[in-house]
Amino acid sequence: MTTTDDKTIVKDYFNATGFDRWRRIYGDGEVNKVQKDIRIGHQQTIATTLGWLREDGNLKGLSICDAGCGIGSLSIPLAQAGANVFASDISEKMVGEAQQIAKQVLGDPSNLTFAVRDLEQLTGKYHTVICLDVLIHYPTQEAAKMIAHLASLAESRLIISFAPKTVLLSLLKKIGEFFPGPSKTTRAYQHKESDIIAILENNGFSIQRNGMTSTRFYFSRILEATRENSQASHSV
Ligand code: SAM
Repeated sequence: MTTTDDKTIVKDYFNATGFDRWRRIYGDGEVNKVQKDIRIGHQQTIATTLGWLREDGNLKGLSICDAGCGIGSLSIPLAQAGANVFASDISEKMVGEAQQIAKQVLGDPSNLTFAVRDLEQLTGKYHTVICLDVLIHYPTQEAAKMIAHLASLAESRLIISFAPKTVLLSLLKKIGEFFPGPSKTTRAYQHKESDIIAILENNGFSIQRNGMTSTRFYFSRILEATRENSQASHSV
């Protein structure tokens, strides 16, 4: 399957059933048990990211690109903390929802800009580029191209999360595929952590921090990588 096919499928999904499903999961209304579990897991990934960024103490005025922003779960608190955030998503429905929520929470902030855009079409330079839970929609070869593009936008740091490929998770995924429920999503691709690290290193980045969120139904590895010549440094 070509990249265009993958992207068209993902875009159509997040403008239709995927929009309804994920808006509910990322929101605070009633959801079923599986969705609640995924909501809690995703909130942990957001909290890890915010924790790292706050820890550095330079969030005010920092330029951040949130690629594949969904309904703004990360962009909105980042803007609230004073960062200059450019948030984009391939789905216009997701961006529309994010804009509405941002308006309710923040009014009309000058430091938060939204755009409907495929992340590979993004241009500009940002201190930090963040891409959470997006790569799960693409095979590793496509993910490699996406990471390379995101790396070209990042002056200093990239933060990405993905579903790690482990024997146990591959097995759970197989079992899940035998029992496709009503909320069956697009294909979910897991990536080997060593592959993602190699891709980051090939693009001139090295890993600084990492985290893992595992609930019953949500598994997400998160990596912070900085440019090898950049000043930011932390210990792993
Ligand atoms: N990053 C957000 C978060 O963690 O709250 C949303 C994660 S959601 C599982 C995946 C999002 O990625 C969807 O909103 C989807 O529309 C977006 N997406 C998928 N492929 C994309 C692409 N090629 N470019 C930009 N956004 C994309």
